[in-house]
Amino acid sequence: MPSRPARILRLLVAALLLTGDVAVFAAAEGGTSANRAAASSAIVIRPRWIVEVETGEKHAGWALRAEGNRTAAVGPASAVAVPPGARVIELPGATLLPGLIDAHVHLTWDDGKSEATREAARKTLEAGFTTVRSCGAPEGADLVLRDAIDRGEIAGPRVIAAGAPLGFAGGVCAQVFPGSGVFSTAEQALAHVRKLAAAGASWVKICAGGGVVPGPDDETAVEVAPETLAAIVAEAHRLGLKVAAHAQGPAAVAAAVRAGVDSIEHGALLDEAAAKLMVERGTWLVPTYYRLRWRREQAAANGAPAAALERAAAAGEKVRNRQQRAIALGVKVALGTDATVIPYGLDAREVAAMVELGMTPLQALQAATTHAAAMLGWSDRVGSLAPGHFADLVAVEGDPLADPAALERVALVVKGGVVVREPPAPAPTAAPAPAPTPSP
Ligand SMILES: [Zn+2]
Repeated sequence: MPSRPARILRLLVAALLLTGDVAVFAAAEGGTSANRAAASSAIVIRPRWIVEVETGEKHAGWALRAEGNRTAAVGPASAVAVPPGARVIELPGATLLPGLIDAHVHLTWDDGKSEATREAARKTLEAGFTTVRSCGAPEGADLVLRDAIDRGEIAGPRVIAAGAPLGFAGGVCAQVFPGSGVFSTAEQALAHVRKLAAAGASWVKICAGGGVVPGPDDETAVEVAPETLAAIVAEAHRLGLKVAAHAQGPAAVAAAVRAGVDSIEHGALLDEAAAKLMVERGTWLVPTYYRLRWRREQAAANGAPAAALERAAAAGEKVRNRQQRAIALGVKVALGTDATVIPYGLDAREVAAMVELGMTPLQALQAATTHAAAMLGWSDRVGSLAPGHFADLVAVEGDPLADPAALERVALVVKGGVVVREPPAPAPTAAPAPAPTPSP
């Protein structure tokens, strides 16, 4: 039996969906008034290829039509009607994909509305990431950001937010997110979970063990007593919230999985036993792998001593081996970057990094679309080009199935049927081009 707040929320969402997508969501997704006007009529996109991420099939000569905030039709261009007044966007070199999902970001470190926050949200969206899970912000600022985006006051991705993370006093989350989520007793932790639920958070983020980046001590680090962790998860689930656990080493990962968390964040040093436990329990892994390379590259650029760089490279190699093994064992993976550690807007680099972890480019794309959507419980609305889903789309120059780096060459981003980034308009052709000068 779902809790009363959850039931009410569900009814509200159902009512919103039935009220007529165009009016409600076009207003909600805002941006400029030009954007809102664009949402009032259909968009037909004709790229070079359309990729069905569910199967990896790549279709040439297909088109997609968005109406209101939803995808209305996708298929061979001849079968996708162009209604009168529709805007047709031709992208002859580009591949169209569902808008991508970054399931681990931190977009705000202040009040959720500052200039820095707006820039983070905009860069993420313009990189083709139309949905994110915020794995925490000071005092729930990500809830403020989420609502501002939903109201159209800030341009950004859809945000699924965890609010102020739970952290045992003196531990990692308590240091990074001091404030209301810091606890010393199970009672304090449960009270915070209930506060998060009341504030509208969808996830609880908790640090189960291990540093921000993995270190040697993290092999055995465990931050929260197993019974406290289990009580937190039970209370969160009772209130309809999922739980994401920051955990680096095998002990913290296993403890969190046994407590019933829904996702392990980082899991940099998880071993085979912990990975098998995750497979058994269906726990998701969000590897956030690229950030380690980013940090090494930054250290090198900043002139770090060779010995330190060698140590970092060896540590990175260890993480790669452990995560590769876990993925090979069949752990479910969703893409997350921990953006804030890496600059905003570089989220797509995680796809190529996941290929280093042994995934095919298609599997990595699925981690950023269908699989991330499944983890978030949003399979019915994001992560797919299927009609009925939000028209959240990204087109990139080239073929990301052959070359994941193509994901950084963004040509078009659409969120909820609204174009938020598009190719520059072709130069006007008033005067005929001058005849080419014959070369000597
Ligand atoms: Zn994080």
